[in-house]
Amino acid sequence: MAKLLLGKEVNLALQERIRSKAALLQGAGILPTLAILRVGERPDDLSYEKGAKKRMETLGIGCENIVFPADVSQEKLMAAVEELNRDERIHGVLMLRPLPGHLDERLVCGALLPEKDVDAQTDASLTGVFTGNGVGFAPCTAQACMEILDHYGIDCTGRHAVVVGRSLIVGKPAAMLLLQKNATVTVCHTRTADLAAVTRRADILLAAAGRPGIIGAEHVSAGQTVIDVGIHVGADGKLCGDVDFDAVSPIVGAITPVPGGVGSVTTSVLADHVAEAALRMYRGRGSLIYM
Ligand code: NAD
Repeated sequence: MAKLLLGKEVNLALQERIRSKAALLQGAGILPTLAILRVGERPDDLSYEKGAKKRMETLGIGCENIVFPADVSQEKLMAAVEELNRDERIHGVLMLRPLPGHLDERLVCGALLPEKDVDAQTDASLTGVFTGNGVGFAPCTAQACMEILDHYGIDCTGRHAVVVGRSLIVGKPAAMLLLQKNATVTVCHTRTADLAAVTRRADILLAAAGRPGIIGAEHVSAGQTVIDVGIHVGADGKLCGDVDFDAVSPIVGAITPVPGGVGSVTTSVLADHVAEAALRMYRGRGSLIYM
């Protein structure tokens, strides 16, 4: 049976890191604070917002909700982002997406200062993921996968990492982060021929296809580390991942469960990014004012 890579263990370590940053800032009278920008009342957004706020507060991070009706104009939303850029009490901004269809998401995200972009919603932050030296942050989910590997001492150097999925928010940045860890990386997608033949050759398999149970026994081999990014509500109403856990866990060496794996670490990474953004602003400028 595979070793379980548990989000709660990674979270304990992350908690220490976040609290020590928050304590340092507290000494300077600064409460690292996240603003969550929501347009409309989508149930997914409401539930994410509620969970994130609770978690931020547990970790000593402030959290403010900024809410607009679903028919808000582009101008009004852009003005709100610019206001958040200027607001010295706010160190990180997370815009819940997708935005309603009448809004130009790219324009709105692009208006955000990369320094406050704690979940890689701007092109500038994504550039940083590719160059390794940007001002923003990697997407929290992709970073959460790296935190899990680091926490469990899984060395990526010279190992073959296979990422299933090439989205801009998970697959592609995860591939870049694995490359930074000196893995040899293969990215699979819907047009990959014989997915199972590729994934079986992985040392580290990161599943981010958004398809419940797509990774089965035939896709894995002994000793692999499997990171399951997928989150779905199964036919039985229970949460499940992209990996068929029951079929895969007896074969591989280590695996993240769903729930209790990547998802739970993602919010801690978000909190860490907010604390880090506040620290960078404080250290870099001696002041937190953006004009
Ligand atoms: P997406 O739909 O934007 O991208 C999925 C990618 O998988 C695409 O690039 C597609 O080419 C690839 N893909 C789909 N079917 C495939 C197949 N049969 N074979 C090979 N490749 C295939 O999804 P996303 O936003 O990247 O999210 C991926 C999964 O991660 C979803 O289940 C989502 O719910 C989950 N997710 C989890 C977190 C978290 O915090 N744990 C955060 C974001 C997303």
